[in-house]
Amino acid sequence: MRDITQVPAEELKEKLEIKQGYRIKQIFEWLWKKDNDSFDDFTNLPKELREKLKEKYYIPKLEVTEIKEASDGTQKIAFTLSDNKIIEGVLIPSGNRVTACISSQVGCNVGCKFCATGKMGFFRNLSTGEIVFQVKKLNKLSEEFYGHKLTNIVFMGMGEPLLNYNNVIRASEIITKPEGIGMSPKRITLSTVGITDKIIQMAKDNVKFNLAVSLHSANEIIRTNLIPINKTHNLKKLQRAIFFFHKQTSNRITIEYLLMKNVNDNIEDAKELAVFCKAFPCKINLIEYNPVEGIPYQKPDNIKIEAFKALLESKNLIVNIRRSRGKDIDAACGQLATKIVKKRRT
Ligand code: SF4
Repeated sequence: MRDITQVPAEELKEKLEIKQGYRIKQIFEWLWKKDNDSFDDFTNLPKELREKLKEKYYIPKLEVTEIKEASDGTQKIAFTLSDNKIIEGVLIPSGNRVTACISSQVGCNVGCKFCATGKMGFFRNLSTGEIVFQVKKLNKLSEEFYGHKLTNIVFMGMGEPLLNYNNVIRASEIITKPEGIGMSPKRITLSTVGITDKIIQMAKDNVKFNLAVSLHSANEIIRTNLIPINKTHNLKKLQRAIFFFHKQTSNRITIEYLLMKNVNDNIEDAKELAVFCKAFPCKINLIEYNPVEGIPYQKPDNIKIEAFKALLESKNLIVNIRRSRGKDIDAACGQLATKIVKKRRT
């Protein structure tokens, strides 16, 4: 049996021997627009077609199995998938905005040294449907908790989204279509550690959403030590790929920089970062590191954070210091990993 959200429309038409084109449209309407998890609920389809669907395909399940609330209002949500794997998403309220931080993979095999997800290892990619349903469920929960729908989405949860390229791009298309969730692509940000060929691919595919690159160091040796894929996707390649992306799309670029005590928080590191960022227009988010159990990095001193920022500003770069949200529930940047125990089912 196959996950129906992974099957192209043409193949579906052929496998189900569908003669009328509008039936395919109806199937996808049920999947993306309405909240149904059984083909039996697709009531405007003939019974015979529903039976065929049940024989060949399944609708991926995404059950909310735990919700944890942080003291700052951030909510971490654990979803259990059809194969009992668990992923996490985070809702981050801020004024009138609610941002959903979503996952693209179960675990991750990039192995960044500072990341809890990286320590879990890799299990599998999320399907298109699992990504879309995650957003739909978070959208509903946002209304429930904060009284309004999601305003922004960031692919910054578990996994490296560009290593699940096709499903992430297709899911983003569905999320932005009126028959999906209808969110503007400008409100979606994809965050990557820098899979250079895929950044170029996104530019060629003319994606409309924003790009965030988790740089964390502009020094080859330090970066390779923190993010092993820097060996193949090195800083020179990365700089060229980001430049190309910006030139092709004019979409916004954010450089994320996790500041870790005595690792990448010196003035020399800030100078190297400034040189790297001068190649394209961008803004820099400096994020203080959130300690993760079993990982030896620490948050830098505030004086060092301020000095780092001042150096960048002296080079006319736009810099924000981002205090991570949801730290007390392990929902902050780099802290997502499945240590949640089942509690709630919806
Ligand atoms: Fe994977 Fe991102 Fe964690 Fe690196 S930071 S291990 S890419 S989830």
